[in-house]
Amino acid sequence: MTLSMKLADRVNNLGTETAFVVASQAAAYAAAGNRVFPFHLGDLNLPTPPNIIEAAYRAMKDGRTGYTPNGGLPQLRELLAEDFNRTRGTSFVSDNVAVQPGGKPVISKFLLTLMNPGDEVLYPNPGFPIYESQIEFHGGVAVPYGTIPGDGNFTFDLNGLESAITDRTKILIINDLHNPTSAECRPEDRRKLAELAVKYDLMVLLDEAYFDVRYDGKSVSLISEPGMIERSVVLYTFSKRFAMTGWRLGAAFGPKQIIDVIVTLNVNDESCTNHFVQYAALEAMTGDQAEVLNILHILRQRRDLCVDMLNDMEGVFCYKPNATFYLYPDVTEAMKNKGFSMYQDFLVSALEHTGVSMCARAHFGTPLPGETARYVRLAYSGIGVDDIEEGLGRLKSYFSS
Ligand code: PLP
Repeated sequence: MTLSMKLADRVNNLGTETAFVVASQAAAYAAAGNRVFPFHLGDLNLPTPPNIIEAAYRAMKDGRTGYTPNGGLPQLRELLAEDFNRTRGTSFVSDNVAVQPGGKPVISKFLLTLMNPGDEVLYPNPGFPIYESQIEFHGGVAVPYGTIPGDGNFTFDLNGLESAITDRTKILIINDLHNPTSAECRPEDRRKLAELAVKYDLMVLLDEAYFDVRYDGKSVSLISEPGMIERSVVLYTFSKRFAMTGWRLGAAFGPKQIIDVIVTLNVNDESCTNHFVQYAALEAMTGDQAEVLNILHILRQRRDLCVDMLNDMEGVFCYKPNATFYLYPDVTEAMKNKGFSMYQDFLVSALEHTGVSMCARAHFGTPLPGETARYVRLAYSGIGVDDIEEGLGRLKSYFSS
């Protein structure tokens, strides 16, 4: 008997994050002596602010190395609730917050708490691939809805979303400030989404991983809409806001009854989030913000350069989103001009001719029926302006050659 025969059936439904596959292909290409311009992974090549690093180091030396309460340090839960109330207009207390080892664990804990096998869950496609993976791994039915090009940015296909609702639909996942498209809800979209959630009595996961990665305007949470506070769980993360992706630190916000279950899942899964990392979080939230602002300043410069350079390429069109660190240019014409219909062939050719490594639409879910336009995703979080200039300069020459 082979070992694969012993694996649980649900393993067949476990997906992955294919951006990591693109990363390993790019790493292999670089290891063979080639220059790579890394636009593929949503990680930051900027260091965590030094005051946050110092705080973790100090906490370790002060002996903050044992378990903490399962929901997180009481003072951190309190601070997070205050910060959340200030930015989202809620009146949460510590009991509405569960500290997590990253934003990602909120997805599975939310589903484990609220989804029964067979329940239908609406999720964005293109979207963060972990939603579909976790829905299906835990026995739910993943039902996609799309994003659509709008006036100045992508937005969500709310008509498509509503028409996908059935009497088995129990959960809606929204990633406002969206990976990969940077789609953002307009005020009327937020109103409509809240009305739909109330009308069809849906529980909602609001993935706000990019809420604070914003260059212009102000982020507004869907949780501030009428009827949302009692049916929403918000995914919060320190990863992007404070350049702390590898520290693994985030939180779930929501009604106490749900948060209590999530805290019990913490007990079952990891006991608690890393103790001294939670002290670093206290410093991240209350300490000097100069470096945090500087990170945003650097990212904004990169965004501006990338958008200008992409729009200067033959057959490419790119919006200039106000938030996140992703661009999702339409490359339909550019791919056609180069004679490609398949993303994989196009990505390999672009990598081999220019060194530019990026993801394509297909890395964010199976394209929906009727989708004809072609898109790639460029993350500018992990590449400096000099390399952006050189990499995208090469891509421009490649498209026009
Ligand atoms: N949600 C979205 C939309 C993301 O893009 C990511 C990371 O890329 C996450 C959640 C998870 O972030 P983390 O677990 O690093 O907090």
